[in-house]
Amino acid sequence: VTLAADNLAATVMDRAECLAACTEEPGRLTRRFATPALGQAGGLVLKWMTQAGMQGRRDAIGNVIGRWEPPGRAPAQTLLLGSHLDTVRDAGRYDGALGVLIALACVEHVRGDGVDLPFAIEVLGFADEEGVRYGTAYLGSGALAGGLAPSVLARRDADGISMADAIAAVGGAPDELAAARRDGADLLGYLEVHIEQGPVLEAADRAVGVVTGIAGQTRAEVIIDGVAGHAGTVPMALRHDALAAAAEVIGAIEARARAAEGLVATVGELAVEPGASNVIPGRARFSVDVRHLDDAAREAAVADLGGRVGAIGRARGCRATWEEVQSTPAVICAPELTAELEAVVADVAVDVVRLPSGAGHDAAMMARLTDVAMLFVRCAGGISHHPTESVSEGDVAVAIDVTRGFVARMAQRR
Ligand SMILES: [Zn+2]
Repeated sequence: VTLAADNLAATVMDRAECLAACTEEPGRLTRRFATPALGQAGGLVLKWMTQAGMQGRRDAIGNVIGRWEPPGRAPAQTLLLGSHLDTVRDAGRYDGALGVLIALACVEHVRGDGVDLPFAIEVLGFADEEGVRYGTAYLGSGALAGGLAPSVLARRDADGISMADAIAAVGGAPDELAAARRDGADLLGYLEVHIEQGPVLEAADRAVGVVTGIAGQTRAEVIIDGVAGHAGTVPMALRHDALAAAAEVIGAIEARARAAEGLVATVGELAVEPGASNVIPGRARFSVDVRHLDDAAREAAVADLGGRVGAIGRARGCRATWEEVQSTPAVICAPELTAELEAVVADVAVDVVRLPSGAGHDAAMMARLTDVAMLFVRCAGGISHHPTESVSEGDVAVAIDVTRGFVARMAQRR
């Protein structure tokens, strides 16, 4: 790790504290889309951008965008770096913000080195990735990448405030969202640094890892209808217990995922009716979340599981249905950019850990606009979306050096 990166990492940690103070709720960090707290965080980032010699602005939806051009040049091409500035409720301070702050530190690093880059760098702080307020993720990167349907503006939050009104209330321009769309012609690509939000890098004892892609996801709902009855009077052989059938299905889901490399499947929500200790359950309803980097592998698993649900239901005299709620394809990181990133990681952090992202990120939306690559930073215990989310300053320094090295390689490549 370079001395410059060490110093910049300390700055990133300080700035993460400053951003964490921008919150809607005293005592805990909540920074949703189009709130004064998000506006305040964006204001700090704009201030730091200006100090770093960048031209900063907000676009129509509230994304913060800073452009740095090497002195005396008007480069025809641009490299994008960034992540999101919004958070979940009672969030940690690094999910999203870290990627914006490391992008900013990278520009400061490049500027301090006095290198003559053949392209401009734009640092992006997206206004919404988590989708907490309006139930729609990627509003910020969606506006930039042209993946936002105008109909979302009519959505209302829990307080009945329309998205259009919310955007206008913080100084945005809901009627001009189309203008926030970035032309992709000059773009070299988009690199996003993000905390891993999982335990893989910690287990591998590595500061950073290169992301291969963002997993595709299927969400389904399973409903099993059996026959409710008295817990004391109905003999076991004559029961059609909906929850016992659900338990068998859930076991089958877990076994299917364990048997396939890279597949993850989760039942995270379960409701039982009537829900009394002395009544045989008549109905069980639960969610299924299936993810894999390979769409074909995910679809094969989903088809298998749908079939198992029906078979287990029939064998138990229950009616069981599998209904797909949503399906999102995987996004594979661009091979060329990812190869550059791997080469830098090999230089800075010795050996390269490659891993898929099971969580969604702005990079998935940005892939509509340009080539994307992602770098994960180790986080303690794999914990995220929680106040105890944490990264080490040393790992942040490694991530800054990798980002800086990535910029240098992109400059050589041209
Ligand atoms: Zn995030």
